[in-house]
Amino acid sequence: MRTEFCEALKKAGDLKELSKEELVVLIDADEEESAALFSLADQVRKQFMGDEVHIRGIIEFSNYCANNCLYCGLRRNNRQLARYRMTMNEILDNARQAAGLGCRTIVLQSGEDSYYTADILAETVYLLKKEMDVAVTLSIGDRPREDYEKMREAGADRYLLKHETCDAELFAGLRPGTSLAERVERLKWLGELGFQVGSGNMVGLPGQTVETLAGDILLMRETGVEMAGIGPFVPNSQTPLGECPGGKLALTLKTLAAARLALPRVHMPATTAAGTIDPSGRDKALRCGANVIMPNMTPAAYKADYQIYPGKPGLSDTPEESYAKAVKIVEKAGRRVGRGYGHSDNAYLAGNFKLPAKN
Ligand code: SAM
Ligand code: SF4
Repeated sequence: MRTEFCEALKKAGDLKELSKEELVVLIDADEEESAALFSLADQVRKQFMGDEVHIRGIIEFSNYCANNCLYCGLRRNNRQLARYRMTMNEILDNARQAAGLGCRTIVLQSGEDSYYTADILAETVYLLKKEMDVAVTLSIGDRPREDYEKMREAGADRYLLKHETCDAELFAGLRPGTSLAERVERLKWLGELGFQVGSGNMVGLPGQTVETLAGDILLMRETGVEMAGIGPFVPNSQTPLGECPGGKLALTLKTLAAARLALPRVHMPATTAAGTIDPSGRDKALRCGANVIMPNMTPAAYKADYQIYPGKPGLSDTPEESYAKAVKIVEKAGRRVGRGYGHSDNAYLAGNFKLPAKN
């Protein structure tokens, strides 16, 4: 093992704040070093987040999108996609089903679809929270601050808005008409409004380097996010990036493990994208830092049309089957399903890594 790798790992094990250079050294781990990195990340995950894995049921309620992100199948210029929108009643029925199965968090996700006004979304969140004992996460992209405020007032607990990449130039090229600075500003608004804020990035985007990935982790540390979704870029032939090579699982896992060491108290999903490029991707992610899994609760009739990228596992599964598979992955990894909401520990202060008493 390289001396600089051993030094960076030792510093991470002592819970000291890692520099960008040290994160690069960790993410650059070879096979032998990766085993040590994963083992420490797993240990830190256990110390700070425990053995519970939180199951967040995701409902993909609309695949309409006004944006044209180069990597995503929902982009507005993709004419090959059959578009759908779920009604408020369909969303509530679906959420009822997910809550009945045991999901303590419902994630409502969509393209950027202004058909759903802030009032419609706020009412949906309000009714959902009034009837069901669940936390609600929204993942519906860029909106005016007033919209976020309405949804927060209606009871939404969390918001997931990935920064996607910390390279501002790459970001602007991949998400035409938008900027990294605006995305980060929105993360700030969301925090100010009292949401538990989630960000994240894709691994393996064309033009990205290991330094970019280290920068992604640092950006999440600086913005103080409470959730970090790190998954591979999966090429979609219906997009301009269809011919690009996809992100590799090994690099994704190393980035995830390094992120766990830099952000010990942050919730991290074993992403669906990791499970798409490798059947055991989510199991492996749970073993190197992840503590969340997000089974797809979307009704089978719509699921296949939420084609962000091809090859998503379980496209014909019912919500019951998706939930059961998630539980199986959790148990296979030797962990247990979290029975609480899986809220974030807001007392966490970046850089103040005090070890809690072992449970
Ligand atoms: N429209 C909202 C937004 O962009 O924040 C939420 C929905 S969007 C489909 C959710 C996430 O999908 C994005 O944050 C992005 O990271 C991910 N995504 C899109 N295309 C992808 C691809 N080709 N490979 C991997 N992840 C992808
Ligand atoms: Fe739309 Fe989100 Fe896909 Fe971009 S990533 S095209 S905003 S759904």
